[in-house]
Amino acid sequence: MNENLIASLRERLGPDSVLTGDDIPPRNWADETKLTPVRPAALILPRSTMDVSIALRLCNEAGQHVVTQGGMTGLAAGAHPMDGEFALSLEKMRGVEEVDPVAGTLTALAGTTLADVQAAAEAAGFLCGIDLGARGSCTIGGNVATNAGGNQVLRYGMTRKNILGLEAVQADGTILTSLNKMMKNNTGYDWTQLLVGSEGTLGVITRVVVGLHPQPKAVETALLALPSADAALKVLKRLEAEFGAGLMVFEGMWREFITVATEELGIVRPFEAEHDVLILTEIAPGGDNPAEAVEAVLGALLEEGAIEDAILAQSAADALRLWSYRESVYEYQRLHKVQVGFDIAIPRPAIGAAVEDLRALHAAEWPSALQVVFGHIADSNLHIVTGPAKPDTTIDAAQTKRIETGVYEIVRKHRGSISAEHGIGRAKRPYLAHSRTEAELALMHAIKSTLDPKGILNHGRVI
Ligand code: FAD
Repeated sequence: MNENLIASLRERLGPDSVLTGDDIPPRNWADETKLTPVRPAALILPRSTMDVSIALRLCNEAGQHVVTQGGMTGLAAGAHPMDGEFALSLEKMRGVEEVDPVAGTLTALAGTTLADVQAAAEAAGFLCGIDLGARGSCTIGGNVATNAGGNQVLRYGMTRKNILGLEAVQADGTILTSLNKMMKNNTGYDWTQLLVGSEGTLGVITRVVVGLHPQPKAVETALLALPSADAALKVLKRLEAEFGAGLMVFEGMWREFITVATEELGIVRPFEAEHDVLILTEIAPGGDNPAEAVEAVLGALLEEGAIEDAILAQSAADALRLWSYRESVYEYQRLHKVQVGFDIAIPRPAIGAAVEDLRALHAAEWPSALQVVFGHIADSNLHIVTGPAKPDTTIDAAQTKRIETGVYEIVRKHRGSISAEHGIGRAKRPYLAHSRTEAELALMHAIKSTLDPKGILNHGRVI
């Protein structure tokens, strides 16, 4: 069956567009979830939307499972192949096709990297509201499929809020086109928003229309030291009141995170004293003296004792240095390969209590490990990475399970969500009922079986 299907795919798409065996590069064997790599049974490399349509029609007729792959930076094992699956990678469908300066939109093929989308927006005098650490490798199609969040959600919202139109291909090969560029378009059900965050289970996204924003004039970067999460949330409210939409970034890093950054990775301590929470913030206050405006508010917060210490970047290099604390986690993850990671959401008022619960769980379950908590605190989003103190130590499946169960119980207790932004994929599928009711799950199954009756797309992911 597979051989006939592969022969038909090669005949229709060309031999270079369908690879098998050793010709499939390791890039397509694994995403960033750190599962054991699996070579897909075939790799389809479409060059156009029509190629995607032909490939899916043939696979659907044959009942062949297909996993869609973008930049392979996903952290939920959504794009990670399973035995016998065909991978369909958008890597040959790249390029920004248009920036429309009047509509303020950008249209790109789904395999275009986010960094290329951002650069094209910037070259035309705009800003792309989507930004995340994986920008150099992740694709705009993957960002839409995962409804990616990132560093500027506070200001520009999740990917969903930045998308005006899509082109996509359904499981049976039907091409859906709504390359809408208008803010307003209430014409029946919005299937494009249904595909945002569907993690490749409802269709393959082939083109994306991104709504762009004006570039902020001057952005001030500061690192704030605080005694607790509750104190940080009070400061957040104050900055929101002072600067409104000018408050762009408000990233939290807890004490253990800074210890790893400074003691494990050798980054210079930002403050002499130890503080429970550090906040990295970016503010574009507008006006003639943006630096003075930010300095005045931070000065007042210091005087009132609302913050314990602060560093305001004096140059672009200084701002990068402050960002290096937040981005140090990627180096930590690279050095300490065996880890259990979480991407949870906790309602703002419960964040402090949830972090204390996490600390207690860590002390009880795996006291010798390193655990760092950080994240997009303004968006209620906490990332937790627990890994062995020694880079090469292993962690057994039973211990991983205990840590996962413990963390998701804390999520349930505080009425949070098991995934704030990375998605469910395969990694969190067993825990979906922690965050969704039976009725919601039934609706998800009904949508899936309507759009993909044979269940060929990203089988075994999400639901
Ligand atoms: P992949 O990893 O290739 O795929 C992810 C999922 O989307 C899979 O289910 C796949 O099947 C599906 N998919 C991919 N392309 C398509 C398509 N064209 N059509 C249909 N389905 C598709 N995520 C955040 O949300 N916020 C962050 O701040 C963030 N920071 C990160 C930092 C680093 C260093 C890393 C490694 C990852 C980070 N991530 C973050 C996770 C990841 O980058 C995002 O989920 C990203 O959106 C995935 O894009 P991708 O192109 O790599 O998709």
